[in-house]
Amino acid sequence: MPLISCPVCEHQVSKRAHACPSCGEPDPSRHHTKISWLINLFWLCVVLGIGLTIWNVAVPMVMDMFNR
Ligand SMILES: [Zn+2]
Repeated sequence: MPLISCPVCEHQVSKRAHACPSCGEPDPSRHHTKISWLINLFWLCVVLGIGLTIWNVAVPMVMDMFNR
């Protein structure tokens, strides 16, 4: 059974537990889902930022090549 650490008391809790047995935090795994969602959003922003940077650098370079 996968274990996660409780976001409040860091007690090892089953992923399927509805409440932390140590501090009573309801649904400790939900916090992790929220955090991973934020991490995904963060990476999406990073990828988009890199993509936009490449776009901004590559397009003028290609335009330059055609204008010569
Ligand atoms: Zn707890």
